[in-house]
Amino acid sequence: MGNRITGTTTLLGLLGYPTKHSKSPLMHNISFEALSLDYVYMAFDVEDGHIKEGLDALRTLHAKGGNITMPHKTKVMEYLDDVSPEAKIIGSVNTIKIDDNNKIIGYNTDGLGFVKSLEENKVDFKGKKIVIVGAGGAAKAVASQLAFEGAGEILLFNRTLSSAGLIADNINKNIAGSRARALVQDEARLLEEIKDAAILINATSLGMEETMDQSIISSADQLPRNIFVADLIYDPAETKLLRIAREAGCKYMNGLMMVIWQGAIAFKIWTGKDMPLDIVKKEIFGR
Ligand code: NAP
Repeated sequence: MGNRITGTTTLLGLLGYPTKHSKSPLMHNISFEALSLDYVYMAFDVEDGHIKEGLDALRTLHAKGGNITMPHKTKVMEYLDDVSPEAKIIGSVNTIKIDDNNKIIGYNTDGLGFVKSLEENKVDFKGKKIVIVGAGGAAKAVASQLAFEGAGEILLFNRTLSSAGLIADNINKNIAGSRARALVQDEARLLEEIKDAAILINATSLGMEETMDQSIISSADQLPRNIFVADLIYDPAETKLLRIAREAGCKYMNGLMMVIWQGAIAFKIWTGKDMPLDIVKKEIFGR
């Protein structure tokens, strides 16, 4: 790859802390190479409190954009020249584009990535009841994007009720026609509410690492067979929740295509080209 970088190569940068586990540099650089695009994508560790300097550095180096990750996704908005209407309502930015006048525009492609992966699975969500468990950054992006795109009722269950309440209030206030409600996480109530829902989404970190043996639902018995189950986690590829969904005979997906699509949408914002998804899936994720 080094041989293709010349004096004219355009820089894109990931700003976050830490960035070393990110798959974004691989995803984008493999795609630039496959499409013979003269760009390079680098990850830069920018510590909390230093995002303004990170943005100034990208401007100074005439970079054309990049991604923003934890812990800067909200704070960065103060320093941008413009923010897409969707990202403004979601309240966080994960993608930036720097135009020819060195103005920086922010976008959020996380929720869109999730919607694209639902569409790939031919899941109809317009006007339907959707149950989300979790109320962190990912839940907020996914719930808001589903509301933008015409979901029916959105229920947000969370261990900490106040975080779910803030997301539901924000959606109801800012997205016309939306109906969002917050509930405290409780399995009996969750099982009741999913009986007439089209989609169940796990947007908590339950199912990862030390909580690998845990799930928002404990058995396949009460999972309606016609509900689509989505877990935002992609490592492990099959969480306990997805195993339960498989055993119940439900259709389901993990978070892999969400992460790939959020990157693919950003790639299109910078280059105007479609990311070669098959190459990315195979080369980076072995799928
Ligand atoms: P976050 O902002 O830290 O939020 C974490 C959420 O998980 C909160 O709702 C938290 O509840 C809940 N939670 C954590 N531990 C829990 C437990 N033991 N029991 C019940 N709830 C628990 O994280 P995030 O960025 O939203 O990420 C959430 C998940 O989505 C992670 O698994 C992450 O890997 C995944 N994700 C996937 C993608 C993708 O592209 N596929 C993108 C982003 C995130 P409290 O509010 O009560 O603390």
